[in-house]
Amino acid sequence: MQYEDTGLYIGGEWRPAISGAFIPVENPATGQQIGQVAKASTDDLDLALTAVQAGFDLWRRTAAFERASILRRAATLIRERADRIAEILTLEQGKPLTEARTETLLAGDVLDWFAGEAQRTYGQLIPARSPSVTQAVHKLPVGPVAAFTPWNFPINQTIRKLAAALAAGCAIIVKGPEETPASPAALVQALADAGVPAGVVNLVYGVPAEISSYLIPHPVIRKASFTGSVAVGKQLAELAGRHMKRTTMELGGHAPVIICDDADVQAVVALFSAFKFRAAGQTCISPTRFLVHRKVHDEFVEGFIAGARNVKVGDGFDPATRMGPLINLKRVQAVQGMVDDAVAKGAKLETGGRRIGDTGYFYEPTILTGLDPAMRIMNEEPFGPVALVSPFDELDAAITEANRLPVGLGAFAFTSSARTAHRLANEIESGMITINHIGMGLPEVPFGGIKDSGYGSEGGSDAIEPYLVSRFVTSQPG
Ligand code: NAD
Repeated sequence: MQYEDTGLYIGGEWRPAISGAFIPVENPATGQQIGQVAKASTDDLDLALTAVQAGFDLWRRTAAFERASILRRAATLIRERADRIAEILTLEQGKPLTEARTETLLAGDVLDWFAGEAQRTYGQLIPARSPSVTQAVHKLPVGPVAAFTPWNFPINQTIRKLAAALAAGCAIIVKGPEETPASPAALVQALADAGVPAGVVNLVYGVPAEISSYLIPHPVIRKASFTGSVAVGKQLAELAGRHMKRTTMELGGHAPVIICDDADVQAVVALFSAFKFRAAGQTCISPTRFLVHRKVHDEFVEGFIAGARNVKVGDGFDPATRMGPLINLKRVQAVQGMVDDAVAKGAKLETGGRRIGDTGYFYEPTILTGLDPAMRIMNEEPFGPVALVSPFDELDAAITEANRLPVGLGAFAFTSSARTAHRLANEIESGMITINHIGMGLPEVPFGGIKDSGYGSEGGSDAIEPYLVSRFVTSQPG
């Protein structure tokens, strides 16, 4: 399959880096280089900053209806191009083609959602103390945005930031993922083809820390949005704070899954035998700490082991594949380090626990039991195909364990008791909880965390607000 090199998209043009520098791109299923992506220096970033300022000056004056119709046109183009975009995504990211296609099509839904939101950025009229005075609140775009998006959902994470910014009337520089550059580039091309003017969307790649430390403090940039690890998120939020820039932080999690003794255990096994291994477990809402009532614990573990062993791991282009590789060797080593630490401290490896072969970055679907909070993996995000299963006797203990960590992004619960469901919905400390099914991540519902998992929602009716500022205008006839 053909894979094209990715350039920088600045001021409406694809171009190489001024220095001519490139970063190699690998297919994680083979470990072979498939292409390269241009590596920006500050000279390129200066061009992008000039372009984004010009883009903003134009776009903020473009009527919301016009912005919305361009976003809808882009959604149509992405749907038309979904097969080709999904192939690019699978080639550079490794995920099965069906997952890649679903992710691509969802980008169309995200654009449609935000097109609607563009038309609903309502202000307010506030009753005045004098009949001659009009007090109004206008909602205006915050300004040029710098966004940083990761490699696990290169399309989804990029489109959530792009669509919200464009709907609000902001222009944007996206620092895309160097591991998976061509699929976000295909999105940007669709936006350009749909009529987004030059400079409104810019896409750069390079050394992430160099780019964020240059763009975030820059006076042109008025807001930063980041998806990635808690540690990097905290650094970037600190930098943004020093320069009084607004931020949205979509950071890591360590999602608890509470399975009560009144749940339909076999249905839960079937759900997670698929969902746990989506994107090879490299998702921020990946179900990780399974807390299972002791009465159904063994039944769950037995079924889940069978489910995990049944997951066909392989190249995402093979129609039989249910789980692709990890993104790179660094992730294989990180996952292996956490699994080895747990086993050395007494955890039981129920299945998996090893890299598969030495071609590509495949890792076995893995289940650990006999866990202890002192183990690294019970505290650090595995970000891989590893499930941690522990029994509980009282719901209180499960809630305490679920809330033990400083992160709070996704959570899952299964029970047939309305009372228990109500309690879990109220007491689990997470930005999102899905009860008796899996239902997070749709464009029309909030997406985001609390505590160390960050702030600012990237879905639903909250998601455009972080890209807007309120301006109060009071007037009376002169
Ligand atoms: P990493 O921390 O090096 O990178 C994670 C992401 O952050 C990448 O996209 C990277 O380009 C970006 N990044 C890193 N340093 C940056 C900086 N100073 N400025 C701007 N962007 C920066 O780790 P990794 O090995 O690529 O990923 C592993 C960890 O990252 C995981 O354990 C997970 O916690 C986190 N992660 C989270 C998500 C998510 O969806 N929340 C996605 C990808 C990675």
